[in-house]
Amino acid sequence: MKAQILFGYPAAAICLALTASADSRPLSSFLKSLHIRGNQSPLTNLPNIAMPPINDDKSSPEISAGIIISDVMGKTQDIAIFSGLSRDIDSVSDRLDDASQNATVLAPDNGAMRNLPRKPWEDPKEYSALGDDAYKGEAGEDRAHRNMRRFVEAHIVPESPWKEHHKVQTLNGNTIWYESTGGKKMIQPGNIEVLSIADKVAKPLASQQPISRPSTAMITVVDGQDLLICNTCGTQFDVSLQSGSPLKSCRICEDPRQYVPPGGQVWTTLGQLKGKHENFLEQDPTDEKILFITTEPKCGIGERAILLQTPNGNVLWDLIAFIDQKTIDFITSKGGLSAIVISHPHFYTTHLEWAKIFNCPVYVATEDKQWLNRFDHLKARRFIKGPIETIVPGVTAIKVGGHFDGSMVLHWEKKLFIADSMYTVPSAGTPSPRQPGTSSYSFMWSIPNMIPLPPSKIEGIWKALQPFEFEATYGGFTGQDVRGSDVKKRVLESMQIQVKSSGHPEHSLLLEKLEGVMVAVEW
Ligand SMILES: [Zn+2]
Ligand SMILES: [Zn+2]
Repeated sequence: MKAQILFGYPAAAICLALTASADSRPLSSFLKSLHIRGNQSPLTNLPNIAMPPINDDKSSPEISAGIIISDVMGKTQDIAIFSGLSRDIDSVSDRLDDASQNATVLAPDNGAMRNLPRKPWEDPKEYSALGDDAYKGEAGEDRAHRNMRRFVEAHIVPESPWKEHHKVQTLNGNTIWYESTGGKKMIQPGNIEVLSIADKVAKPLASQQPISRPSTAMITVVDGQDLLICNTCGTQFDVSLQSGSPLKSCRICEDPRQYVPPGGQVWTTLGQLKGKHENFLEQDPTDEKILFITTEPKCGIGERAILLQTPNGNVLWDLIAFIDQKTIDFITSKGGLSAIVISHPHFYTTHLEWAKIFNCPVYVATEDKQWLNRFDHLKARRFIKGPIETIVPGVTAIKVGGHFDGSMVLHWEKKLFIADSMYTVPSAGTPSPRQPGTSSYSFMWSIPNMIPLPPSKIEGIWKALQPFEFEATYGGFTGQDVRGSDVKKRVLESMQIQVKSSGHPEHSLLLEKLEGVMVAVEW
C-alpha cells in the first residue's frame, strides 16, 4: 500500500506542462491554482501526503462553531495552494462544504506544494506511455483531472475525530494512521509530521441539531529523519524516502562546481546514517574555546563544523550533515547554540534539522538563496543582505563572494574561518623560513574540478578582508589551519601569485600592499 502518489518526475516534464498550458489551455483551472509554482526550483519534490489527526488534546484548537471546513481552508494562507486544488475536485469540495459529513484534511502547506517534483496531475507512467502530449487534448485533460482527483483525495480522511493508531482509508483508498511521539503527531506510513492544526469546525446541521460533525484541517510536514540526503554532498532535500520515487539528481552536485560520482546519484537519510557514523569533537590546540566537529566514516564531502564558544553565545560555523546524540548532548552541555552561520551552499547540509534541535537561527547569504532545498517551516533562516553582519558581538560574517556569489568567511578574535572561500593548499604548511612567493591559498570557483576564480573575484575577496586583522585561518576541512602573524600577508601573497600566474601581470591587485609594505611576488 503506497501512501504517496505520483512522484519524482523529471523537471523537464514540469516545464512542459506549463508551456503546453499556455496555448492549448487544457488545464486552465488547475494551472490557475498552481501558477505560483512556475518559478520555483524544479528540483525538489515532496510528499504528497499530508495527513492529520485529530484528537481532543489541549494543543488542538477549540472547535469553531458555525463555519465549515472549506471556510477554514479558504482563510488559511499556509495551505492556499492545496485549498485551490481541492475546490476543483467536486467529490472533495462537496464533502468539505457539507456540514453533515465530517472529514480530516491533511493539507500540505504551500512550501510542500511548491516543492513537488512535478505537477499533481502528472503521472510519469503516462508520460512514458504517451509522450509529451500525455495531457493535451480532451483525453489528456481527462487523465489530468483523474490524477488530480487522486492527489487531492489522498489528503482527505473521511473521519473526525480521528483516533490515534486507528487505521483509516483516505478518499482514494490509501490506508493511513497516526502516532504521537515526542509531542508530535506523525502520519504513517511515511513519518509525516503534523505541523499544526489549522482549525476544527462544527456547524449546526439543522435547527434541531445543534451539533456538530467536526472536521479538521491539519498542516503537515515530513519528518527530517526521512528526508533524502545526497550521499556525495550531504545536502538534504524536502523529499521523503517513503515517497518511493527519489529525486533524479542533486542539483548541488550537478552544478559545475561539484560532481556526480561515477556510480551515479546515491541517496541516504539521517535515519539510514544513524548507527553507521559517529561525530567526533576535537579541540583546537591553540584555543580551547574552538572545537572541530567531524563525522567518521566520512559523510558527504567530509567537511568540519567549527564550534566557537564566545562570551556572547556559542556560534556554529558551517555544518556537517550527520547529527548524533553525543553531539547534541555536548553542545547542549556547553549552553546550546546562539546561531549557526553557513559559508556557502556546499555546507547547507541538514541545517534546518540542526536549527530545530538547537532552536537557533541559521545565517546564510541572500545571494545564494536559490540553492536552498527545503522549505523553512520553522522560519529559522536569517538572510545576510549586506557585506558584513554581526552574528553575536565580536563575531562577524564577511561576505567575500567568489566561490559562490554569497560566499562568506567568519571573523572572531583575530581568527578567520574561511571554508572554501579561500582554499588552504599544501604549501601553506611549508615551515619557516618560507621562501618569498610561496603560496598558502588558492581561490577556486570549483575545488574538486579545479576551476580557478578570475582575478576580479580574487580582488573582491581581498577588498572584503582588507579591513580585518587576523593571525590564523581555519579552512573547511581538518588540517587546514594556518597560524602566524604573517597570515594576512600570506593571503595577499597567494592572491598575487594566482593572479600573476593566470596571465594578468598588470592587474591592480598586484599593486596592493599590506601595512605599507609591498608584498613581493618573486615568481
Ligand atoms: Zn549532492
Ligand atoms: Zn564549496
